[in-house]
Amino acid sequence: MKIDMNEIANGKPSEVGEVHGVGNTVSGTNREKILSNVELANKPSFAGVDSPIQFERHSTNFNRLKGRLEHLVGMAIADFNMIEDGDSVMVCLSGGKDSYTLLDILLTLRKRAPIDFRIVAMNLDQRQPGFPVEVLPNYLKSLGVEYHIETQDTYSIVKQKIPEGKTTCSLCSRLRRGIIYRVAKELGANKIALGHHRDDMIETLFLNMFFGGKLKAMPPKLVTDKGDHIVIRPLAYCVEKDIARYARGMEFPLIPCNLCGSQENLQRQNIKEMLATWEREYPGRSQTIFTAMQNIVPSHLLDSKQFDFMNIGVGHNQTDGDLVFDQAL
Ligand code: SF4
Repeated sequence: MKIDMNEIANGKPSEVGEVHGVGNTVSGTNREKILSNVELANKPSFAGVDSPIQFERHSTNFNRLKGRLEHLVGMAIADFNMIEDGDSVMVCLSGGKDSYTLLDILLTLRKRAPIDFRIVAMNLDQRQPGFPVEVLPNYLKSLGVEYHIETQDTYSIVKQKIPEGKTTCSLCSRLRRGIIYRVAKELGANKIALGHHRDDMIETLFLNMFFGGKLKAMPPKLVTDKGDHIVIRPLAYCVEKDIARYARGMEFPLIPCNLCGSQENLQRQNIKEMLATWEREYPGRSQTIFTAMQNIVPSHLLDSKQFDFMNIGVGHNQTDGDLVFDQAL
């Protein structure tokens, strides 16, 4: 059974007909309303980190923010059919703002869901120096959620294998991925939920374009290499600034993310700054890029694996608009 998480997030059934998209079940009216809130969240007057608007827990602004995040997570789950009846979802928790928010919102939505699914939180303690081992277990115990802490000293392996000064992230991520998949299997989870959000996806699109020569981003849902699990990203529609505000309002016990001593991915940082500059100059641009990622026209690109250019001919009805003299806006 597929959940209409939009209904769950709204607390009522969808109002209007469906929007076309990948497995979409979201009503047009709701979607536009919600996405216009996302646009609003991008506007500096509303979204600036030092915004005068208060986000204390239980304030009206905070409740609105919480409602918006719940809507967007519900929409992403529905649009991509991320969670179904009987699923067992392992939520990967790093101790950062994104994964805390993901777990919190999923727990809220589960309470309203007309279906049954299991949530188990998982943290991988990589034995990074200074990692506060008590923080996550204490937090998870206080929630009463099922959880598992996996301790694996990937930190030492990475330090041994990678020469000083070289980037450690690719080996570290590979090790981590293998452990996460194994633990998901041991815990009996068929879905693995990660805390990547809209802005991670946009940044990845540009990273792949600029450095990989590929037009690809980060999928909201994918099957793992061996086909054993499905990875889902329920925060796909959520804006990073909203998540940061939510995490502050909720006072999640955040764990610093620089314990491994690795330099922040410089190229990702550069892309982040590029996008932030665009956003300041042209408010709403990030959301437009994100919308574009959901409206791809293969016949107007140059990848013959995606569109059969070889076999088009006179009389062929191409459905993607003006063909020869198509212009930029
Ligand atoms: S930043 Fe540190 S913990 Fe994260 S992937 Fe890179 S090496 Fe691993």
